Amino acid sequence: MERMIPRFTLDGVGDAEVSVYPFATEDGLGLELTRFLRAESDDVILLVHGLTSASDVFMMPEHRNLASHLLDNGFTDVWALDFRMSGRYPYDTETHRYTLDDIALYDFPAALDVLRRHIGGRRIHVIAHCLGSVSFSMSLFAGKVSGITSLTCNSVSLTPRVPAFSRLKLRFGPAAMEYLVGLPYIDPRFGEAPVLTRGWMVAKTVSLFHNECDVSACHLQSFQWGAGKPAMYEHANLLPVTHKRVADICGASGLHYYRHVRRMVEAGRAVKYDRDNPAHRDLPDDYLVNAADVGTPMLLLAPERNKVFTDSNNHLFRVLEKRRPGRQELAVLPGYGHLDPLIGKNAHLDVFPKIVDFLKRHGG
Ligand SMILES: [Zn+2]
Repeated sequence: MERMIPRFTLDGVGDAEVSVYPFATEDGLGLELTRFLRAESDDVILLVHGLTSASDVFMMPEHRNLASHLLDNGFTDVWALDFRMSGRYPYDTETHRYTLDDIALYDFPAALDVLRRHIGGRRIHVIAHCLGSVSFSMSLFAGKVSGITSLTCNSVSLTPRVPAFSRLKLRFGPAAMEYLVGLPYIDPRFGEAPVLTRGWMVAKTVSLFHNECDVSACHLQSFQWGAGKPAMYEHANLLPVTHKRVADICGASGLHYYRHVRRMVEAGRAVKYDRDNPAHRDLPDDYLVNAADVGTPMLLLAPERNKVFTDSNNHLFRVLEKRRPGRQELAVLPGYGHLDPLIGKNAHLDVFPKIVDFLKRHGG
């Protein structure tokens, strides 16, 4: 593929002092925080990506990205986290048995420690996407992170719900890929693999069912996630350049996190993957059990055409209103899918102002 925009570039965020803070989790993974500082501020923003994406979803140069939008709207100290699901690391495509419990337990507490060391007691607002949103919410509701002034969740949080076809994929997909196809991960770049290799054959087979566009990586992402043509976003909401380089934005994913997602979908809420794992004894079996004690105001962004996590946030809003009334807001996003609220060409007009409005009401 011809590369029009360099990977892992910081060029999308201008007029800010950039610094990088590497740190390690208690279970020994190296992670990183990137800070965009225009001026010290009493309201600090932490951005949390989803599975296979990275901090890059918040700073893409081809559109008005969320990091820049926040900096321009008075939130002048923005931090972006790359945690173990990040496409910048090999952690998810090499052999592993991490679950969202590990992330809730190890990644976010370590990141918050680093953040606190640099910003002290200032207010922290978290904006999280996809499985980053699920796992951050788990960490917050399990009491593993605290002092969060507000939390914005895009697409999904503590009650993951998926389309019927995705349930089927979650049930049989990981084993089918590992034992029948013989591949330990799915890569949206399989279309570029040598002819007749397993990856190439997967790409060709998937594309037989997708005639909505001619980008193989787009078809494979619909295979990886959700049920739709395409599943991850509405084509009309993306710039052509974003659509073409979509494998840069969401890369390869391993199969094990799907198993935890399946367990949660079947339970109807975020639950621990393995109740017998002694390393996770401090985590609740059911992450909603102490919901009434969590005071953090939440903004639940609910894309109307969400073909990955359907009406998860609409449902969570109703669940939380019963347990902690008045502490969450629901913002339905008409015409948007799962990921385009962040990477869409008009997200700065349709979506980001809703986030800024929420932050301003809960900030200083
Ligand atoms: Zn497409």
